[in-house]
Amino acid sequence: QSYTRIGQVESKVRAFLTLDEENARQAAAKLDEQLASGSTRGDLFGLPIGIKDNMVTEGLRTTCASKFLSNYNPIYDATVVSKLKDAQTVTIGKLNMDEFAMGGSNENSAFHPTHNPWNTDYVPGGSSGGSAAAVAAGEVYFSLGSDTGGSIRQPAAYCGIVGLKPTYGLVSRYGLVAFASSLDQIGPLTKNVEDSAYLLQAIAGYDAKDSTSAKVDIPDYLSALTGDVKGLRIGVPKEYMGKGIDPAVKEKVLEALKVLEGLGAVWEEVSLPHSEYAVATYYLLASSEASSNLARFDGIRYGVRSDNANNLLDLYHLSRSEGFGPEVKRRIMLGTYALSSGYYDAYYLKAQQVRTLIKQDFDQVFEKFDIIIGPTAPTPAFKIGEQSNDPLTMYLNDIMTIPVSLAGIPAISVPCGFVNELPVGLQVIGKALDEATLLRVAHAFE
Ligand code: GLN
Repeated sequence: QSYTRIGQVESKVRAFLTLDEENARQAAAKLDEQLASGSTRGDLFGLPIGIKDNMVTEGLRTTCASKFLSNYNPIYDATVVSKLKDAQTVTIGKLNMDEFAMGGSNENSAFHPTHNPWNTDYVPGGSSGGSAAAVAAGEVYFSLGSDTGGSIRQPAAYCGIVGLKPTYGLVSRYGLVAFASSLDQIGPLTKNVEDSAYLLQAIAGYDAKDSTSAKVDIPDYLSALTGDVKGLRIGVPKEYMGKGIDPAVKEKVLEALKVLEGLGAVWEEVSLPHSEYAVATYYLLASSEASSNLARFDGIRYGVRSDNANNLLDLYHLSRSEGFGPEVKRRIMLGTYALSSGYYDAYYLKAQQVRTLIKQDFDQVFEKFDIIIGPTAPTPAFKIGEQSNDPLTMYLNDIMTIPVSLAGIPAISVPCGFVNELPVGLQVIGKALDEATLLRVAHAFE
């Protein structure tokens, strides 16, 4: 079924980087065998799924949408991938993204851009744009994305689906190609909130292979979907509803708040006063961590090895020059500069201090409120090519998702209507490890 649909729409959407029909058919046949020999049928049995191409899959090409890894075949599965295999899903392919997850439109893919299924002249968002578009276009039942500064929530909003970024540490990052290790988190992209709960249930949990994995009990997320939000206290940050937000998007958020009010919730304006520093803080920290993480791509261990080098230094130099795209190079240079001696205190250390202030903003609001609600992104999707020459404008699309990432807390984007025939997302932000409340609120609203 999935393949029939892919045959119909993939030439327009271009969500996939690798499709492996043979492998998927074998996996499906294996599941049938297991069933025939008496094993039980789980909740996710046989569902066709897609994985963002920065999570390693044994024997299935994993490129991070980079020329550097265009022929990289991993020898093991990421923890999330093996968990989904255990849950009896069938991986049918790897999904497009911005190179090494750096970007917000999929235009930084070294291979091709993905198109928004609602209007193919528009971007699907990013960096998990392929993951969002494949679900929205019905090519897969659900997918996994990764979110460092908004990369699950923003494409979910642009494509009119549900995207959940869990609390930092709730889902194992083992086998996720690292971008910014203190921010990266894997999460579900699904058609609705119930599917999100099922998928989170399948992938959450402690993993000894990830040193930042949280040792916590995983609640039953499905039983949180009660539909009851009576008495729920919602904070609405004035910083997310003011300057820079498209008035039509703001209108949709206010309508959503009315719906929640109708269900018995109450809302009040609150302030997250350090929000205005979040984007600058994020780009310093994320680029610094990226410059260190991407040092492993040296032309020797993985992927591209330049044929034109005469000595070792040249080999590093040429392999990296040939393998990385412009946005990745920009971030490596910014990060290397920020970490260099003499600048470390002024940039990296300062950014860490501001990160703490941003986290404290959220802590204070959560003393009085159960949940924070605002838009996921300031506008609906933009046209392909419209912002690709303007990295700063592109960076500002994440102004409402980045603070949440810096604070390490969970947030879900759920569709809340259309502006100019393009979907808009409502962002519901929760306390650390309180995914159950997020899912409850998003489900009641949906
Ligand atoms: N758009 C942001 C960036 O370019 C976020 C990316 C992400 O979350 N991976 O860094």
